[in-house]
Amino acid sequence: HAKSVGRDTYCFFEASMNASIHQQLLLMQDLRVAIQRRELVLYYQPKFTAHEGSVVGIEALVCWEHPERGMIPPDEFIPLAEKTNMIMPLGAWVLDEACRQLAEWRRERHVEWTLSVNLSAVQFRHASLVDTVRGALHRHALDPGWLTLEITESTAMRDADASLHILQQLHEMGVCISIDDFGTGYSSLLYLQRLPATELKIDRGFVRDLAHDTEDAAIVSAIVALWRSLNLSVVAEGVETTEQKSFLTALGCHSLQGYLLGKPMRADVLDQFMQPGGVPA
Ligand code: C2E
Ligand code: MG
Ligand code: MG
Ligand code: MG
Repeated sequence: HAKSVGRDTYCFFEASMNASIHQQLLLMQDLRVAIQRRELVLYYQPKFTAHEGSVVGIEALVCWEHPERGMIPPDEFIPLAEKTNMIMPLGAWVLDEACRQLAEWRRERHVEWTLSVNLSAVQFRHASLVDTVRGALHRHALDPGWLTLEITESTAMRDADASLHILQQLHEMGVCISIDDFGTGYSSLLYLQRLPATELKIDRGFVRDLAHDTEDAAIVSAIVALWRSLNLSVVAEGVETTEQKSFLTALGCHSLQGYLLGKPMRADVLDQFMQPGGVPA
């Protein structure tokens, strides 16, 4: 370790090192023990039907409650976990914990929500994925149809044939597939049409300026029309204003997700939110 070489060496090393890389190395060390220390927490963001506004599903989003740094969002440590393969145990934990929580909600609250879990490209390419998914469903006695796995459009596109093979296995198991952040990749329609996906999530980048940007509106309108014609469910993410909500509903989006309707919340907060008269967090 640089520090043991002596103070001068350490300072030299420190100064020459990119501060952000140094930060990342420290975080990586912490991440190894974060699961055992129960520092990872799942937040749940509800997904609503556009017309009735009822909750149809919840998406699990992982957060890291670091003892010194406070809350670290997934965008800051998922890429790190991917570089070190820590994403494998982390991803397996997310899947298991989210399935446990859904089973509890179904048992105690008699909800009919489905559960969405995000998969990283690294998990997706790993041979163990199908068994990990099957294991989690089995442990918590969940119907495979209650679970949706979200993969981004770019993940699905990379190594298209291999992706298709994995998605087919998951599909045969009865698990639903959602294409996340749609519109940010470069999928060919021919390929998309072959995917056994059941849902498509329009990236929030398109939703943001929807009401003012006619090009974004045209793109979203075309995506919705196309996917509806393929009998797939279209979800818009990042809905923050009532204007966006009415626009997306008028365009024919089936479901909506966003801060306007419900932020990601801890399980106990979501419990209260769902009570009659519950107020958004
Ligand atoms: P995502 O799957 O596209 O998740 C949606 C992100 O948008 C979440 O950020 C959510 O908090 C945020 N969001 C939701 N509604 C709104 C809104 O109305 N406005 C705005 N501005 N943002 C909104 P978060 O939690 O930071 O997650 C970021 C990304 O990290 C996720 O994007 C997903 O790709 C990844 N991620 C999260 N949890 C996991 C996980 O357990 N495993 C893997 N592999 N990736 C995860
Ligand atoms: Mg997602
Ligand atoms: Mg997304
Ligand atoms: Mg995203």
